[in-house]
Amino acid sequence: MTPAAYVHLDLAAARHNLIQVKRYAPGNKIMAVIKANAYGHGITRMARVLETADAFAVARVDEGVRLRNAGFKQAITVLQGFVCAEELELLLQHQLDSVVHTPQQIAILQQHTGTNSRLNVWLKMDTGMNRLGFKGHDFAAAYQQLLSCALVQQPINLITHFANADDLLDDKTRRQIEVFTNAIKDFPGECSIANSAGIIGWPHVVSGWVRPGLMLYGCSPFAGKTGSDFGLKPIMSLHSRLIAVKDVAAGESVGYSGLWQCDRPTRLGVISIGYGDGYHRHTKSGAPVLVNGQRVPLIGRVSMDMITVDLNSQPLAAPGDPVTLWGDALPIEEIARYADTIPYTLLCGITQRVRIVEQSV
Ligand SMILES: *Cc1c(COP(=O)(O)O)cnc(C)c1O
Repeated sequence: MTPAAYVHLDLAAARHNLIQVKRYAPGNKIMAVIKANAYGHGITRMARVLETADAFAVARVDEGVRLRNAGFKQAITVLQGFVCAEELELLLQHQLDSVVHTPQQIAILQQHTGTNSRLNVWLKMDTGMNRLGFKGHDFAAAYQQLLSCALVQQPINLITHFANADDLLDDKTRRQIEVFTNAIKDFPGECSIANSAGIIGWPHVVSGWVRPGLMLYGCSPFAGKTGSDFGLKPIMSLHSRLIAVKDVAAGESVGYSGLWQCDRPTRLGVISIGYGDGYHRHTKSGAPVLVNGQRVPLIGRVSMDMITVDLNSQPLAAPGDPVTLWGDALPIEEIARYADTIPYTLLCGITQRVRIVEQSV
């Protein structure tokens, strides 16, 4: 029997994707980004599978603490750093590295007393993203302040983040690279610029450390492309099963709000998957769904636990038949387009009730 809503994780694909990162960024060290529960894949699971990465990056302190509690000894960078002295204490206690991006963080570092440990920091430059980091003179001043801060391990590492690297025609990325490389050339610390889009799309950028997230999970950061266009393999596929099949007359409507009206007699399939599992509610009619390995179109509104599809092309389909919502044979990038979103949100959006089946390396 095909189980209801489950995610299959091909862990060998993760190792493959890590090797691809090395190919795209030869000579760079790799900080594998496993924030947000490793983009929905399970943070400790992915840390184990990606253990040969040079370091890990997470967004928040508690994600780093979780990795330490699970026994991981690698360098772990907390991309948002700390907001108070208590969090700084946690970073020190668990030997987590911190991005430093505000004057408030520097003040907390300066006021800290009573420990012999050192904090390894990545000072963040804002090169145009206008989210985290220091600009221009503020960056130079922050660097000087950190230099004279006893708690801060020397040398200080330097980091920035691309705003539009997924748009290869946007000149902004080139300008960001220029600003960063000019600013850092006299500093002794390690440097890091590129996320997945930067690694694939701007291969000449060498900074020392790359920070792949999405590409490790086998997806394309570029609209209109899929992971396989870049030699990547998706780790996650989402599956379920048909639970009902029925015939609906022409002119009848299907589902909530009568969003879909049948323009012909329709063999309708009901599948046990919905936004309660992480199948996006805004996915438009026409989105492909694999029933018995064959594409059929989604019709009508996505509900919490179910979706409906047009089975006219599959008169023999029956309850219990296997369904794939995305995965190897049905790129998640394509589904994201129908849902007016990006693969990131679909991966991160898988909910607790979805069973996880992993295929080990
Ligand atoms: C999430 C994140 C990354 C990884 O980005 P991808 O697009 O998933 O490769 C890299 N750097 C920072 C600062 C991030 O927040």
